[in-house]
Amino acid sequence: MFSKPSVKTASLLILLICLLFSLVATSAAQTTPTAAPEPDTRVVSTGEYVVLRSDDWVSSAKPVLPPAHFDARDPDSTATATIIVNYVDAATTWDLNPQAKTAFQFAVDIWETLINSPVPIVVNAEWTPLDPGVLGSAGPYTVHRNNVSFPRASTWYPVALANALAGADLNGGSPEVVARFSSVYANWYFGTGSTTPSTDYNFTTVVLHELGHGLGFLGSMSVSSGIGSWGYPGSLPTPINPLVYDHYSENNASQPLLSFPNLSTLLGDQLISNALYFNGPNANAANGGARVALYAPTTWRPGSSYSHLGEIYNSTPNALMTYSLAKGETNYNPGPIVLGIFRDMGWSTGPIYTPPTFFSLPDQLLLKNESRSDALDLTHYTILGTSGLNELTYSIINTPDPAAGVTLNGAMISINPTTNWLGNALVTVQVEDGTASDTASFTVRSVDQILYTYLPSIAR
Ligand SMILES: [Zn+2]
Repeated sequence: MFSKPSVKTASLLILLICLLFSLVATSAAQTTPTAAPEPDTRVVSTGEYVVLRSDDWVSSAKPVLPPAHFDARDPDSTATATIIVNYVDAATTWDLNPQAKTAFQFAVDIWETLINSPVPIVVNAEWTPLDPGVLGSAGPYTVHRNNVSFPRASTWYPVALANALAGADLNGGSPEVVARFSSVYANWYFGTGSTTPSTDYNFTTVVLHELGHGLGFLGSMSVSSGIGSWGYPGSLPTPINPLVYDHYSENNASQPLLSFPNLSTLLGDQLISNALYFNGPNANAANGGARVALYAPTTWRPGSSYSHLGEIYNSTPNALMTYSLAKGETNYNPGPIVLGIFRDMGWSTGPIYTPPTFFSLPDQLLLKNESRSDALDLTHYTILGTSGLNELTYSIINTPDPAAGVTLNGAMISINPTTNWLGNALVTVQVEDGTASDTASFTVRSVDQILYTYLPSIAR
């Protein structure tokens, strides 16, 4: 129990607290070395931008179709991001080719569906000569560190992500993304169809890729004369801090690259080890539980190595952020792994794509001369993933014994065997949503008689 303090004691207490507070404030001002790091901004140099290289060969990969509800104007779209494109020197470049702007907007619509930000993302788009073999290059215009809303301290965040986390435009009137596209290619495909001519590079695919870098898919590591390094200084020469992406990169032995000494051949060796991974919970979940391979060829390739997905993702729904694009390649979706990486770095994203898959399908046992229309509704055996039901296509992909009379109408399997047919027919069906597919099989069996075996009730 406490007795009520007198007015005199209370005012003395207040005086003491004020004195203490002013002491704390003075000492904090005097001990700057131990103070929390100050928010800081750095302009990314164009030499740090990541590039997309052109392949000479023609892609044989299936087109990767846009995500569902990809148009931000679609009422079912979950998008909250707004991307504003500033076409640089438009009168002498972009305006001469309105198709290119339509293709650009298509890529913008797709990204807007996938990420959330309350702050408009301004993209400076340049149509300009780039090095031979380079289709595009991009990076964030600025990076930011030590804002109170960032999940990690002493870490640079690309500005679009930094803004989304802070809920404010941290670089004011400057753009968030700078993206450049090669004006020296004669063979761009500016259409938005899913079939890219085998002589052309799909422009929307390149824009999607470059926006991916500008929004944050890039790390700071590089190799020069065998020496590996990471990070940037800020307004002061020290400290050097990594990009948020760098926190998740690791070598084959699961050692974080940031655990290697900066400016060392030891780090340099890791970066050209052909075995680098992004290890983050969301990225891994989108990759079947395994960490994600990064591009790490045995020769350091500036602008390509480390800041791209590994070559094993070519011809998959995750191919967009590989380091190169083939002629005829069409990719209108960054894929689940990239969205997982974005989430790990701090982005709020829409649902991460999961493909439709089948439960196991039940075998169909019929008596001789029995027919079964509407035998199997495949929708009942489909795990939708993030696909909408109406976008799924079902097909029979093998050639079952025609005597079994198996037909598919929409998602409904019917079985009408020929007269007196007895036997087995294997039926393999596929479900597809434009991005991925799954298959499953069941057997149709027609028998003379069905022998029921009654199990004791305890075993049922
Ligand atoms: Zn790239």
